Amino acid sequence: MSVIIRIPTPLRPYVGGSREVSGEAGNVENVLAALVQQHPDLKHHLFNDQGKLRSFVNVYLGDEDVRYLKGVETPVPDGATISIVPSVAGGSALSNAEIRRYSRHLIMPEVGMSGQKKLKAASVLLVGAGGLGSPAAMYLAAAGVGRIGLVDFDVVDESNLQRQIMHGVSTLGKPKLDSAKARIQDINPYVQVDTYAEPLTSENALRIFADYDVIADGTDNFPTRYLVNDACVLLGKPNVYGSIFRFEGQASVFWAERGPCYRCLYPEPPPPGLVPSCAEGGVLGVLPGVIGVIQATEAVKLIIGQGEPLIGRLLLYDALDMKFRELKLRKDPHCPICGEHPTIHQLIDYEAFCGVPAGAELQPQDEIPVTELRDRMSQGLHRAVLLDVREPHEWEIVHLPGAKLIPRGELPNHLNELSQTDEILVYCRSGVRSAQAVQFLREMGFKKAKNVRGGILAWAREVDPASPVY
Ligand code: ZN
Repeated sequence: MSVIIRIPTPLRPYVGGSREVSGEAGNVENVLAALVQQHPDLKHHLFNDQGKLRSFVNVYLGDEDVRYLKGVETPVPDGATISIVPSVAGGSALSNAEIRRYSRHLIMPEVGMSGQKKLKAASVLLVGAGGLGSPAAMYLAAAGVGRIGLVDFDVVDESNLQRQIMHGVSTLGKPKLDSAKARIQDINPYVQVDTYAEPLTSENALRIFADYDVIADGTDNFPTRYLVNDACVLLGKPNVYGSIFRFEGQASVFWAERGPCYRCLYPEPPPPGLVPSCAEGGVLGVLPGVIGVIQATEAVKLIIGQGEPLIGRLLLYDALDMKFRELKLRKDPHCPICGEHPTIHQLIDYEAFCGVPAGAELQPQDEIPVTELRDRMSQGLHRAVLLDVREPHEWEIVHLPGAKLIPRGELPNHLNELSQTDEILVYCRSGVRSAQAVQFLREMGFKKAKNVRGGILAWAREVDPASPVY
């Protein structure tokens, strides 16, 4: 065991670029002395000529400022983390070029030189480089946020371009992170962009989040949303939340130290399949622009310390009615993570918490591949019904010959149109909704229901390349 010393961005060049270095337990003075012995260039940044810690450098043990403990004599036990936190304005003077670039900020008293320096010293992590992450990242970069982190492991698909404005035709098929980084640096080369090409998990979330001032949640699924929330609560960081569906959006700032968290609002996720994702339900292309820019606005306000943040308020936006509404959010004293007696003290298994993704419980023999479906269809579907569980407007785009349409949500009211003795081959767009439908049908006694694996998308890929893909 040893201790971890967190190095702030401006001092990292003096420790070979590391974010953290390890040291031996002792007291704050010994730990720092050993640190500068190992990295001599760091010495005059931390200590003055008299060997005293410089007054604009603060040292934290865990989350406590050691000045309020025993100063440099504060013991640093094995396993502890100490953080070196220099005052923000100290290390981030603006160059003349930056002053020209940010002049419209600098002439506003609410931002001014001090606010712009705060932005430069600040770091924002965007979880997701898609619909919400695109406008948020581009405006945060333009505003001069010094460091932007992006977590994403997707590649740019044609169907993204309807709303994910950070990407374009020239980056189709490339990782979204590459596309995003190039776009951000074209907007503002003064921004440092750090990318994490991995799915956010309980294993990596705390490590990635620890290094950022503000986290912006642009995820599109419940497991990641709860993971982002819990990691922010555990680390005491603000979570700038945004979500979108069809014509409606939501935004808030969850910050457990100053207000409610996402779990105070929704203690539990909806059962899998009840709330469709944007990939299933669609989203108006301009909607993430509105919500992502609200997230960027909140992040900037938190950084410069101006205005009233969306803490304790849930902003609802309806694009069809063109109306904003605001609901009051209260901190739940029984919240399992930020309440008075929390039961969650570390990150959990969020896939399990949110329910195993639908379809996963089907056995291989409960599914048929599209190639087998093609062969069966060519011989005439004997004693089998081909059931489409998508929505009528999807049916209009493309459907399989001979299929019967009953949207998934309406299945319970139409069971009398199906026979338990027939084989029922169920398909949807990607195979997710149909897997849920199969599960439901089996529970209802239709034991011969089977899922067409991969749905219409697999059909277009493997059987009929001329079939439209949406
Ligand atoms: Zn809470």
